[in-house]
Amino acid sequence: MRPFYVYILHCADGSYYVGHTDDIVLRMQQHENGDVGYTALRKPVELMWQGEFETREGALAFELQIKGWSRAKKEALMAGDWERIQELARSHGKVASVPRLRQAQPERVGESASAQDSPADRVRTPQSVEARTPPTVQPEPVEGRTKPVQSLLQGIIGSPGPIQRRAVSKAITLLESTRSDHRAQGDELLTALLPHTGKSFRLGISGVPGVGKSTFIEALGLHLIAQGHRVAVLTIDPSSSVSGGSILGDKTRMEHLSVNESAYIRPSPSSGTLGGVAEKTREAMLVCEAAGYDVVIVETVGVGQSETAAASMTDMFVLLQLPNAGDDLQAIKKGVMEIADLVVINKADLDPHAAMRADAQITSSLRILSQHGNPDNASHDTTRWHPKVLQISALLGQGIDSFWNAVTQYRQLQTANGRLATRREKQALAWMWERIDAGLKQAFRAHPQVKHLLPALQRDVAAGRIAASTAARNLLSAQSGQALSAIE
Ligand code: GDP
Repeated sequence: MRPFYVYILHCADGSYYVGHTDDIVLRMQQHENGDVGYTALRKPVELMWQGEFETREGALAFELQIKGWSRAKKEALMAGDWERIQELARSHGKVASVPRLRQAQPERVGESASAQDSPADRVRTPQSVEARTPPTVQPEPVEGRTKPVQSLLQGIIGSPGPIQRRAVSKAITLLESTRSDHRAQGDELLTALLPHTGKSFRLGISGVPGVGKSTFIEALGLHLIAQGHRVAVLTIDPSSSVSGGSILGDKTRMEHLSVNESAYIRPSPSSGTLGGVAEKTREAMLVCEAAGYDVVIVETVGVGQSETAAASMTDMFVLLQLPNAGDDLQAIKKGVMEIADLVVINKADLDPHAAMRADAQITSSLRILSQHGNPDNASHDTTRWHPKVLQISALLGQGIDSFWNAVTQYRQLQTANGRLATRREKQALAWMWERIDAGLKQAFRAHPQVKHLLPALQRDVAAGRIAASTAARNLLSAQSGQALSAIE
């Protein structure tokens, strides 16, 4: 079933435009062309929020509701801050009703089937729709490629500027869409983009909220741009689909970077599951690479499994820590330490002694891990990288230089010894298999026999009346059309 969307656009005059549609990609195009919601002053420039609804009635009712909301309440919605919305409603003597948003329903092979295990309300996070200027290039359709894809491709691989930014944003919005016709176009676009990808350095950055990720990325991004690089920042934040807004999606946190012409910042997509979010981030990464962003930063929150997802799509994975982290090494998840290529202690300015202690403790735990944990890191070999610890102050801009030197050294070593190429090969294959697994699981669950048998078998397994392995075998044979004698 096709979802309905309610969305909020930021307009050139500072006001917000609230609308609804059943085709968000087309509607953004209409806004861009000035066909809808356009007045010279109020020109909508940026998509700030979108929510998906199962029914048109639900969408219309919510649209009507938010049209009457104050600016503060709309902004709380864009930030996904439901508590604030309730608070504002209470202060006006009303109770804000939380809309019934569409439940995550994977509609295509490639969405993680685990969305069905724990359906989460699906609210899209703020997304950037770049400032609109009419396209000046009318691309010629190329044989074998559809016109919209050809036009996007030309925009993306064209020269940097507003046209390219718009094409990059549109392409990512297209890739995030769950509609099957958009998906087909998305696949066509990815295939066309692939020869233009792979030349950028992919840097994963993780750390708990408040550790200073955005402050650090802003400082690093500006430092790199000053050296002539172009920087894209993408995020993986699966919590955004639950909270109704991305904690990383707040563009103003990277105030200077977000307005820099050589930077492109895209908040986290939210499709309800980590697998879905990660897949979209990977695809967005390819779009940015094809557009010539030579450093792509994938930012993620240090919660759940999102670090593993970020590490599995980047060339180098960096973990940000606070100076007091060393006091309680238990607090540092061992699994994350194992995948970190570099641990950065931020806010070293706050307590230099604590930062030194953390440095020593994390260095020794990395050494222990390399001896006992990860055999790949064992034995000192000067031709390859060994995980390190650095102290910085993102706020004061101290240590950004040495950070980038470490990244450069990592890149040189791992390129020369072939490990970077191997890492990418493994990642591409793992990605393919992950998507196959998810697709198979989804097809399995959608099989009529499986659907029919699953509820009773789940109850029986939960109640201990049937062994889990027997139930699994029965379901698998039901799917492959074999006799069901064992359970009928
Ligand atoms: P994020 O949630 O990980 O993105 O963290 P932010 O970048 O938003 O930073 C959280 C807070 O820590 C903000 O108030 C920053 O100003 C502050 N902060 C970030 N880096 C530093 C630093 O190096 N030193 C100090 N003293 N404060 C910092």
